[in-house]
Amino acid sequence: MGLSLHVLASGSGGNASVVVDDATGKAAVIDCGICKRDFFARCDEAGIALDDIAGILITHEHTDHTKGLGVVLRGMGKLGLEPAVFVSERVHAQSSEVRALDAVADIRPFSDEGAIGLGGMLIHPFATSHDSVESFGFRIEGSGDDALGFMTDTGIVTDAAYAHLERCRILAIESNHDAKMLSEGPYPYPVKRRIASDGGHLSNAQSAELLERLLCNELEQVVGMHVSENNNTYRLPLDALAEIVARNDHAAKVQVAYQRMRISAE
Ligand SMILES: [Zn+2]
Ligand SMILES: [Zn+2]
Repeated sequence: MGLSLHVLASGSGGNASVVVDDATGKAAVIDCGICKRDFFARCDEAGIALDDIAGILITHEHTDHTKGLGVVLRGMGKLGLEPAVFVSERVHAQSSEVRALDAVADIRPFSDEGAIGLGGMLIHPFATSHDSVESFGFRIEGSGDDALGFMTDTGIVTDAAYAHLERCRILAIESNHDAKMLSEGPYPYPVKRRIASDGGHLSNAQSAELLERLLCNELEQVVGMHVSENNNTYRLPLDALAEIVARNDHAAKVQVAYQRMRISAE
């Protein structure tokens, strides 16, 4: 019994993940950038009942993280369900997808200065470094001292991120691009520069370096997140993260999350 992570979709085409505390059966959704059909179908596949969803947390305002909010919440509303939406004040102000919900959804502000209690879980937001108005990762603590670290959409690993990602059993960390594929790839130079910048996304090598610092006795599951379909393959981050685990004689299981398919880590 503990936390489990279900990544419904991950990547610049749309993001949504669900963390379930098996002790209570309650779930926290992180980001909602996929269509209602995929959201409902992949929750069903993972055995997540929609009425167990206690709330939806938004990392930042980029539309690959917010564009499904309206349709998913309306779909849940038709079933009599109204999960709260947790969003920082600045992201709320910046996101037309979130502001469109003002009159219909239960919207609650958060910051990196306080924890959110949700479905028996305690969620600690921390600041990440991204070219959005504000952005967050989360440390989620569940029953039985279980902890999960979640961080995508960050160009560097902030000190706050290191502090929050220590001693987790499940780690979901961005492994967005292969630096060589990005620099030799089809994107215009300003876009390449943006992705590789401190306000962009973590490369496979940065992700592997982060994982090496975070290896600990508690760690059992590692998931590479927000993998680029243009500047990466699904194999490269898997190999980079698995190499760190193997080199350190660690037993953690490594997976990558996909754009078009759900994966689970329990
Ligand atoms: Zn994104
Ligand atoms: Zn983003």
